[in-house]
Amino acid sequence: MKVLKFGGSSLASAAAIKLISAIVKQEAKQQNIWVVVSASGKTTDTLLQLISLALNKDDNYLAELKVLEKHHINICKEALPIASQTSVIAFIKGECNKLQQLLDAVYWLEDASPKTHDKIISFGELLSAQLLEKILQEDIESVQYKDSRALIHTNSQFTNAKVDFNITNSNITKFQKNNNARITILGGFISANKHRKTTTLGRGGSDYSAAIYAAALQVNVLEIWTDVSGLYAANPNLVKQAKPIATISYEEAMELSHFGAKVIYPPTIKPVLEQNIPIKIKNTFEAEAEGTLISNNSNGKRQTIKGISHIEDIALITLEGIGMVGIHGISKRLFEILGNNHINIVLITQASSEHSICISVASTDSQKAKKLINTEFKNEISEQLIQPVIVESDLTIIAIVGDQMKSHQGVSGTLFSTLGSNNINIRAIAQGASERNISFVVNTTNVKKALNCIHAAFFEAHIKELNVFIAGVGNVGAKLISQLQQQQAYLKEALNLNVKIVGVANSKQYYINKNGIENTDWKSNLNKQKINNDTSFYDAIAVLNKQNSVFVDVTASEAVANSYASLLRKSISVVACNKIACSADYNTYKELKYLAKKYKASFLYETNVGAGLPIIKTVQNLISSGDKITEIQAVLSGSLNFIFNEYTTESDFYKVVKKAQDEGYTEPDPRIDLSGKDVARKILILIREAGIPLEFEAIENKSMLPKGSLEANSVANFYDLIGREEAYFKALLTEANNKETRLKYVASFKNGKASVGLQFIAKNHPFYNLEGKDNIVSFYTNRYQEQPLIVKGAGAGADVTASGLFADIIQIGSAS
Ligand code: ADP
Ligand code: ASP
Ligand code: MG
Repeated sequence: MKVLKFGGSSLASAAAIKLISAIVKQEAKQQNIWVVVSASGKTTDTLLQLISLALNKDDNYLAELKVLEKHHINICKEALPIASQTSVIAFIKGECNKLQQLLDAVYWLEDASPKTHDKIISFGELLSAQLLEKILQEDIESVQYKDSRALIHTNSQFTNAKVDFNITNSNITKFQKNNNARITILGGFISANKHRKTTTLGRGGSDYSAAIYAAALQVNVLEIWTDVSGLYAANPNLVKQAKPIATISYEEAMELSHFGAKVIYPPTIKPVLEQNIPIKIKNTFEAEAEGTLISNNSNGKRQTIKGISHIEDIALITLEGIGMVGIHGISKRLFEILGNNHINIVLITQASSEHSICISVASTDSQKAKKLINTEFKNEISEQLIQPVIVESDLTIIAIVGDQMKSHQGVSGTLFSTLGSNNINIRAIAQGASERNISFVVNTTNVKKALNCIHAAFFEAHIKELNVFIAGVGNVGAKLISQLQQQQAYLKEALNLNVKIVGVANSKQYYINKNGIENTDWKSNLNKQKINNDTSFYDAIAVLNKQNSVFVDVTASEAVANSYASLLRKSISVVACNKIACSADYNTYKELKYLAKKYKASFLYETNVGAGLPIIKTVQNLISSGDKITEIQAVLSGSLNFIFNEYTTESDFYKVVKKAQDEGYTEPDPRIDLSGKDVARKILILIREAGIPLEFEAIENKSMLPKGSLEANSVANFYDLIGREEAYFKALLTEANNKETRLKYVASFKNGKASVGLQFIAKNHPFYNLEGKDNIVSFYTNRYQEQPLIVKGAGAGADVTASGLFADIIQIGSAS
């Protein structure tokens, strides 16, 4: 024999019922079966809403009841031939009439006791089970409905009644003795007390009814048919990567359901566990999927944790005070007062000092609990031995569960370091005595992120997801986006990195796609979200609250640079080619490094100097290996190098500058390059990386521009001014040619002093032959005293800058 239970969504439409029919027909070929059903779709929720409307004197309950009636009649009409419909429609209308009388009573009496409440909500299962009976009878023989209230006997704790197993089991076996039906159909969730009054078994209780029948009948298997393909390692609505668990022990399933895995109602496991009856969770809408087998065999030797579950809407209640230390019986009184008032405690933590006890309860119980506890301890509170109860809300409990946890070290280490590096604050922690779970409380705003990063840490250890947000989609930004998109498959395959571009922004708009921007549609979508204020994009990133978020600054904006600190404080890594932050005052630079360390985020800016060339990394490696940098000589401006290489006796200086700008070799504002400011920022950053706390003002800038040209009030005006100074630039060039030298803009650092300026470089100098937009840096160090360590290569251009940013991003991915 078998018991099959079908959930609400499996009865929500005629099409779904057709699927049930096929499954049931197939099973009934092999053996007798009992089919237990929930109310159709969300009927129980609707019935509760009807009660509340009637109770509040809102006569909309009548219209809503009509909608419910229509829902059932529609199923009937779609599922049955016309000839069979009349009697079934009459039955539905008859039941809805009874419902209306009950609701009218609530309306007029303005009272709905738990007893009335159960009577009303039982109609959900009464309707669905009898409707299914009538539909199945159409083409299957030997189908019979049985009222669960005649079998499951409970106490009178309405809405959450407790089952009397002696009477119930005897009722079931007695009934089955004379039951010849091949298929017996029953409503789940409903039961009756000794006065034959309707009771219910708690929300989600149909699973429990099915387990009670399965245990009493000692069937081979209990099948729970629902709308997902098994018990997933985490709620599949929140964790897209979660997969169904193939096999799991009763205890593990019990813990997961206790902590919120809704797919199975917690009390369900106990009756079948005692009889060693396996539970199979199956998907009505994908019957061929394997599903989950719950049995006494966890079969997960290699899997330390089996799943993660969570309960939202939790409140944390703290009782503390010096009077608690060593006083006997405080916890006993606390638990008793809550237990006696049916308040369920989901989690308990007590500091070993016994100075405080923290408990978690459903938010809906928190005010009642607060009152009860304050009253219970009013003497101690008035003597200031205990402080009045503190209640915190908007919290969620998350639990990780696995039989193997106790024999594996490091589970909590992985758990808490994952949460820490994602800036998720933990409000309370408890470990079950069985060591089968670790549960903890976090702010509800962090739930999705927490579930995803824990899931990634334990179940997708081989793949790390990076969520990238790019500010600035000009030349370099657009190149970076296309490089990341193009390499996405390769990064997954070769580096186990899933790099998703989740958001892009320019100074006016941003576009976010939670699932990742995979093509060029960002261009047309970019105008979807206006940037209303300076923080719009950052706020959107914070609200998304994704694990391993990386913000990439591809702008030259001071406002964007000013956002790094707050991003890092949220554990959002920052990658920047924008040099403003690192060349701001020394304290800012230091603070950002400190914040990155403190919040376990990365702050990387290799492209601040030499675009994609590994210059900053070289300095960092020298310093961390104990070397000391004594001198730096460098051509650090790809744009100036390009300009002076292109500038000949035949060309005009301002036209060459324009060309450099058009080809993306200059800063958006070319004055930053030509004034020497950009080079000064770069050498400053190198000096700081070498461990020297220099300020920008300390760098001597031997500007090469004619006086007045920097006073231009716009880029256009600047071009105009330098256009008029052609003779000045020609004179510089002629002087260089006459001396058989070349013009190079050189940055140097020696004897603690830094300067930038134009120099006449002689033929024998290593800088003389520096081509195109190349950069060169010579480091003299304690280890490289005679011959410097030289890094040379293309130091400007969208492609190489984008690939430098790319390298920084994947470096974050490979950090643990
Ligand atoms: P039914 O009506 O069939 O009893 P429920 O709605 O009670 O179905 O339970 C199934 C739902 O439980 C799924 O649709 C899913 O949204 C939710 N759920 C929460 N956690 C999990 C989990 N870990 N695995 C599978 N489903 C889960
Ligand atoms: N229909 C009831 C509810 O919605 C019982 C169940 O679905 O298991 O809670
Ligand atoms: Mg359910």
